[in-house]
Amino acid sequence: IMIGMIAGVAVGLLLQALLGDQKELFIPLGLFDFPIKSVFVDGFFHIGGQIFIASLKMLVVPLVFISLVCGTCSLSDPKKLGRLGGKSIGLYLITTAVAITVTISLALLVSPGVGHAIPTNASFDAKQAPTLVEVIINMFPTNPINAMAEGNMLQVIVFALLFGISMALSGEAGKRVSAVFDDLNTVILKLVTLLMNLAPYGIFCLMAKLFTTIDIDLIYALAKYFLVVVAALLIHGFINYSIILKVLTGLNPITFLRKMKDACLFAFSTSSSSATMPITLETATKKLGAHNSVASFTVPLGATINMDGTAIMQGVATVFIAQVFAVDLTLSDYLMVILTATLASVGTAGVPGVGLIMLAMVLNQVGLPVEGIAIIMGVDRLLDMTRTAVNVTGDCMVTCVVAKSEKEFEVEIFNDPNAAKALE
Ligand code: ASP
Repeated sequence: IMIGMIAGVAVGLLLQALLGDQKELFIPLGLFDFPIKSVFVDGFFHIGGQIFIASLKMLVVPLVFISLVCGTCSLSDPKKLGRLGGKSIGLYLITTAVAITVTISLALLVSPGVGHAIPTNASFDAKQAPTLVEVIINMFPTNPINAMAEGNMLQVIVFALLFGISMALSGEAGKRVSAVFDDLNTVILKLVTLLMNLAPYGIFCLMAKLFTTIDIDLIYALAKYFLVVVAALLIHGFINYSIILKVLTGLNPITFLRKMKDACLFAFSTSSSSATMPITLETATKKLGAHNSVASFTVPLGATINMDGTAIMQGVATVFIAQVFAVDLTLSDYLMVILTATLASVGTAGVPGVGLIMLAMVLNQVGLPVEGIAIIMGVDRLLDMTRTAVNVTGDCMVTCVVAKSEKEFEVEIFNDPNAAKALE
């Protein structure tokens, strides 16, 4: 997977350099000129990458539904479910608030937007973000099949929980259905493993296509903003998570980070915590040692509501835009930003680029112009990839903490270096 990614980036950058300002690159073959960009970048790489993402997404709804039904049904104590919910939602919100607080402090220290010219033609069409009340009401499906068809994860989670609970309460009938679900779970996990074999090629295609077209000059122009976001993401991903994990569980953070490598590569290349979910779930159970009864709940929930990396980008972006437009934000404005960005991350779906849309809600809240988003939009793709890796790492960190506290955790698997190969 790592080789696929590095090769993809290298091929992409090489093609970009060869293309220069041209739209097409021809290789003379004597009889005719071979159009490299159309055939490879817009052809093979595009098709390969899209099929790869589609097959990951294809797994998400059945995987979450089946494994969550199995997980809920196998919880011996129904009270445990309430505790699990409380602990994971609490931790998800706290880690996000920590992320954005650290980030805003860092951004204020570096001042990435001071001296940046205001673009005259910036415009951004802000979509209406859902309010918190809407998010809560929307968690409950009126039609579970529709929820699955739309891939509305919160609704699928709620239905799976209720279904699993009633299965556990239904005696013999419940046991029979549960045996079927256990078998289905084995089959769908096999499908995940099969797909893993295609990952290096899929990731190669995604990276090669992206890096052929990515605008490197824009990143230079916004280097300060870009670097502050990356620095904050690295601090949160490596330092904050390590401290929280060590303090709350005593587990070795280096082992944890090492085992997160594959899931992070998936998150990085797909820019979507939702599409990465099959791999996150496998990592949490097979590599890190959390039981499925906990991970099947915390991972899909985290992929939907836990977006520390996204909140980090929003924190830096708010400070940056305020500085570019020379708006002075007060301490209470910043507290407002922390609160709204934390809540916005709950409403952010785990798909590419939504973080920017939710940023409009944060900016509106403190009266900053949403046109500011147009300035940073051009460099957002690479940042989206990096922050998605942080989002996924956060999901697994919280899963370890909750599983360990519920004694649903195998320390031997966590410490076993060979478990790192469990997905292969
Ligand atoms: N792409 C991010 C994710 O899926 C969300 C975002 O920040 O846009 O986690």
